[in-house]
Amino acid sequence: MMMTEAAHDLGFKVVVLDPTPNSSCGQIAEKQIIAEYGDIAQIETLCRQSDVVTYEFENVPYQVIENFQKDYNIPQGFKPLYFSQHRIREKCAAEQAGVLCGNYRAVNNRNDLETAVREIGFPCVLKTCSGGYDGKGQLVLKRETDLNDAVPLLAHECILEKFIPFDYEISVIVTRSITGEMTLMPTGKNIHKDNILFMTVHPSHLPPVVEKKASEIAQNIMNNLDIVGTMAIELFVVGDEVYFNEMAPRPHNSGHYSIEACHTSQFEQHIRAITGMPLGNTALKCRSAIMVNVLGQHYEGMQRLKQECRPQVYVHDYGKGEARRNRKMGHVTFIDYDLETVENMVENYFEAV
Ligand code: AMP
Repeated sequence: MMMTEAAHDLGFKVVVLDPTPNSSCGQIAEKQIIAEYGDIAQIETLCRQSDVVTYEFENVPYQVIENFQKDYNIPQGFKPLYFSQHRIREKCAAEQAGVLCGNYRAVNNRNDLETAVREIGFPCVLKTCSGGYDGKGQLVLKRETDLNDAVPLLAHECILEKFIPFDYEISVIVTRSITGEMTLMPTGKNIHKDNILFMTVHPSHLPPVVEKKASEIAQNIMNNLDIVGTMAIELFVVGDEVYFNEMAPRPHNSGHYSIEACHTSQFEQHIRAITGMPLGNTALKCRSAIMVNVLGQHYEGMQRLKQECRPQVYVHDYGKGEARRNRKMGHVTFIDYDLETVENMVENYFEAV
């Protein structure tokens, strides 16, 4: 939806393929094709109707894009999906790009798990290689008896990761265009609640050495893997060390603040990158920007906030319909408010529920 708004601003028309009738994006695109992300015939219809094709969802099967990129203009290609759809492929690719990853092992059964735990040590995190998000499909192991809880995950291909005792998490949003031009959005600090991104705060006042390392990591990954488009590289920071966690092959929740806070948003930058336009200036154009996610349980509070129309509080309602608990329904960006004021508003509007 937000990418379509940016594409419209740049003068493009949009056809979207999405399985949900009247989807967020379908409500504003010129046309929606209602089909599954693996529906070959309908994806070909989408390709035929489009001068440029993009995706912003990690569960489009990479093989579909690999197949169609031979005949149609899909500048991102299949690689961002290929890497981000499999945690071990992703980590290997990051390491090949010279990026620091925490210790990890491939795990396919109980025996592998026991060996891997002996080598890596407690605490560690078991994750399914594919299909997990927002903490789903993962289990923190602190002691021997926790291994018994791993049975459901072990039905899938897994990775065991060393638990990184991070001081904080950041995500670098980086865009590389078809001409090789590259920009980074200002890096915010991410605050999670129950493994779901809750807040992104700018300016983040990162130590310069962390800023430098994060930016080098993002650029090395983009150049090494020859990636086009906008990606989010999620990182753990421990002191001055920066570890790779994972990457998302699309504009990211932690970059939503950029719509109001930056000269060029992450969405506009993505459209610029895949259509070969020069990339825009990503600098902040305000003193501070705080993005707060709105989950199903916050939805009523968000509507109250919207009605009050406070200055420089930008409420984005994704128009998703049913407000289920923990479903991302929208976000709010507070421009030039200090953190304490935002925290008070969040408490008033969202946390009474
Ligand atoms: P992920 O889906 O891999 O991004 O994991 C979701 C969240 O779980 C991360 O944002 C971290 O807060 C936490 N987490 C995941 N992996 C690790 C790890 N190896 N060490 C410490 N925390 C982790």
